Amino acid sequence: MSKKISIIGSGFSSLTSACYLAKQGYDVSVFEKNSSLGGRARQFKKDGFTFDMGPSWYWMPDVFDKFFNDFGKKTSDFYNLKKLNPAYRVYFGKNDFIEIEDSLEKIKKVFEKHEKGSSIALDRFMANAKKNYSIAVTNLLYKMPGISPLELITRDTVLKAGSFLSNIRKEVGKRFKNKKLRSILEFPVLFLGAKASNTPAFYSFMNHADFGLGTWQPENGFYDVVNAMVNLGKSLGVKYYTNHDVSSLNTNNKKVESITINNKLFYSDIVISGADYVHTESLLDPKYRQYSNKYWTKKTWAPSSLLFYVGFDKKLKNVSHHNLFFDTDFDNHAKNIYDTPNWPKDPLFYANFTSITNPKTAPKGCENAFFLVPIATNLNDTNDVREKYFEIIINRLENLTGQKLKKNIIFKTSYCVNDFKNDYNSYGGNAYGLANTLFQTAFLRPKIKSKKLKNLYFSGQLTVPGPGVPPAIVSGKLVSDLILNNETTI
Ligand SMILES: Cc1cc2nc3c(=O)[nH]c(=O)nc-3n(C[C@H](O)[C@H](O)[C@H](O)COP(=O)(O)OP(=O)(O)OC[C@H]3O[C@@H](n4cnc5c(N)ncnc54)[C@H](O)[C@@H]3O)c2cc1C
Repeated sequence: MSKKISIIGSGFSSLTSACYLAKQGYDVSVFEKNSSLGGRARQFKKDGFTFDMGPSWYWMPDVFDKFFNDFGKKTSDFYNLKKLNPAYRVYFGKNDFIEIEDSLEKIKKVFEKHEKGSSIALDRFMANAKKNYSIAVTNLLYKMPGISPLELITRDTVLKAGSFLSNIRKEVGKRFKNKKLRSILEFPVLFLGAKASNTPAFYSFMNHADFGLGTWQPENGFYDVVNAMVNLGKSLGVKYYTNHDVSSLNTNNKKVESITINNKLFYSDIVISGADYVHTESLLDPKYRQYSNKYWTKKTWAPSSLLFYVGFDKKLKNVSHHNLFFDTDFDNHAKNIYDTPNWPKDPLFYANFTSITNPKTAPKGCENAFFLVPIATNLNDTNDVREKYFEIIINRLENLTGQKLKKNIIFKTSYCVNDFKNDYNSYGGNAYGLANTLFQTAFLRPKIKSKKLKNLYFSGQLTVPGPGVPPAIVSGKLVSDLILNNETTI
């Protein structure tokens, strides 16, 4: 009889490990507390609008392709991908924006217009970013389960030692004077959950992900990826259960013997939790927890977010599919996220309008909008605060893009710290897990295998390699590789 594996949560890391382990003949079940699969990448539909609830930037298509290739499939067997052009638009003031197009050559022209000589600097910066991408993503990421510091030491990384000591802000600042260009080059590392000044320069591989590989869009939205992975899993025999909230991990003989769901015991040989790490440990008897409260409170957490899902009864002008509103000072906003946690006075925000490229996500003639304000974890989240911020961003949107919109809102709902906590058991209401700072990289992140229980594993954005969908997919692969290697000792 096949060994049973129970996977807690149905985020991308769980969907990934489920497929790899089922392919090897394990009897895999995925238990999700919510009523739909996909974790933070769930989807919801209302009044003819379709919203991706979390991720919207499809970067690093090679990671998705590698995943499907490992099962003898192609990404296009499951969904159609389109490279967005423009990739995104960045607003710096009223009618003052830069559009990032779909090739480095085009982007260089825009840079040159804003700063003479910057296209040459960009060429050099991007050559280095591409090299870092090939070292980090292509060669290192899949071999780095975070068990030993030695994983990080290769000939290539030793040669790059200096770029672990410098940071993105310094390196960008040395090469570019124009403030707008600098903020565009610092933007990609926001996906890693930390400030550019706190992110090692080596992570410029995210700039290659941005300008080099481009921004892609699955035909029907990000949820296409969830559907694809679930369909693949089903074809391999994975069983998926929604509304299955795991309430305890029950141990015997230094192993998790069973998990409790709705007062019922589910026995398994191996347990992987793709749910937030802190929550998973809280389901264990304290003597089997590896990390103390103090350990977690000292960590640099990636931001939480205030989100709005909005339907307009008309098409919007002067916006692209992805839009960044960098018309205020990010340094002040970042202080409120990382240094003195508080609601930001003049927040930066991000908005996407998926119905621009896929009219099916909104009723005819309407526009679908998603707004995101990054904020510190654990902020006091009330309806009044949410509404106050909606006023701020809708006024800014109207002013910057030169159109009246408030009267055209026909649907609106918000999502914030309390929802992240309630829906995902997220520590402090974090949206993206633990930031990728120097001291929270690789073997310095929470371990993917329990040191106290022989058959308990962890995956997801709090583990290696870190926040984001591609890292979550890599995390699911790393944990399944480790299980396959450890199999004989289980
Ligand atoms: C608003 C937002 C925007 C983002 N934008 C992007 C983007 O544009 N591009 C990008 O690459 N990444 C983005 N990310 C990050 C990305 O979505 C995440 O890093 C990734 O999806 C996390 O996957 P995960 O495997 O860690 O699991 P998660 O998605 O965190 O899923 C964990 C699952 O475990 C479940 N769970 C928790 N407790 C239990 C329990 N007791 N029993 C059963 N189930 C349980 C939860 O309900 C959840 O479904 C975004 C995230 C958010 C929130």
